[in-house]
Amino acid sequence: MEKMRAMILEKCDKIENNPLKLKDIDRHEIKRPEEILIKIEACGVCHSQLHGIEGDWKDIGIPPTLPTVPGHELVGKVVQVGDKVTKFKVGERAGITPLLEACRECQYCKEGKEYLCESSAITGESFKGGYSEYITVAEDFATKVPDTMKSEYAAPLFCAGITAYKAVKAAEPKIHKKIGIFGIGGVGHMAVQFAKVENCDVVAFSRSQNHLDVAKRLGAVDAIQFSENQKEFLAKLKESHGLLDAAIIFAPADIVTDTAIKAVKKGGLVVIATVGENPTFMAFEEKTIRGTLIGSTKDMEQVIKICNENNLEVITEVFPLEQANQVLKKLKDSEIKARAVLVP
Ligand SMILES: [Zn+2]
Ligand SMILES: [Zn+2]
Repeated sequence: MEKMRAMILEKCDKIENNPLKLKDIDRHEIKRPEEILIKIEACGVCHSQLHGIEGDWKDIGIPPTLPTVPGHELVGKVVQVGDKVTKFKVGERAGITPLLEACRECQYCKEGKEYLCESSAITGESFKGGYSEYITVAEDFATKVPDTMKSEYAAPLFCAGITAYKAVKAAEPKIHKKIGIFGIGGVGHMAVQFAKVENCDVVAFSRSQNHLDVAKRLGAVDAIQFSENQKEFLAKLKESHGLLDAAIIFAPADIVTDTAIKAVKKGGLVVIATVGENPTFMAFEEKTIRGTLIGSTKDMEQVIKICNENNLEVITEVFPLEQANQVLKKLKDSEIKARAVLVP
């Protein structure tokens, strides 16, 4: 059996203790005729991996099993195709989102919301993850990456990009709609750009001056330092822009969600793209609160198209696969500007 290198998680632990171990494991092989074998060229490091690895999300069932190979936004070269594959040829490049596979038969799958499927498989929650050299996937759940896109650029689009895109869509974008984006990291910096493509007026919020500068450069009309002093923060927002038409929350802190709901005008829309406590809100203000989760294969195709046509920027820092623990530590310490990418 051929082997491949992978960063394996056997036991959840603080990232300081280097819980990921570099090991040689059996290389994945095509087992069904609709599968393709991808030689991974780049995998983004998502903030959710940090929570999964450190065991913060055990009560919501993540990781569902151990050991695992983390990593759920990856791009690589198709090196082998099953007998029934029609979408890909050997030599082309493909990417995979966190949705590794769904049942194709339930109501969600039939409605094009396969990411809500109850019997789905998640990339990076078994031995099939991006922190390795190879992966197999059914062709329906892989998306083509054009030749003009570098793998290090494209990989973050498969979680950060699609999450940002879907969240902006959920905020019902239209020309000059004032959308506040709370949290400008790997996902938020993409959301600023997707909202800009829709001609929205984006106001960015972050605790970090670095991130605010990035948001400004990417087209936000304004970027305001987030403050836990809610009264002061809202007063400042009202004075400079008035309340928002819609808000999107990527920062995983309950105080941010609570503030964002209050920063939206009556009848406004709040999109929550993170895990946290259910916030309280005033029903009589007729605000809508909406959750969002990655997206479908069709959404992913749109993300690739929009990024390609509009030359959207993906801010990445590239590291070798073996440094996954150190990279996650940097992410924990807010030392990653936007998205780290591992290259095997
Ligand atoms: Zn992710
Ligand atoms: Zn299904």
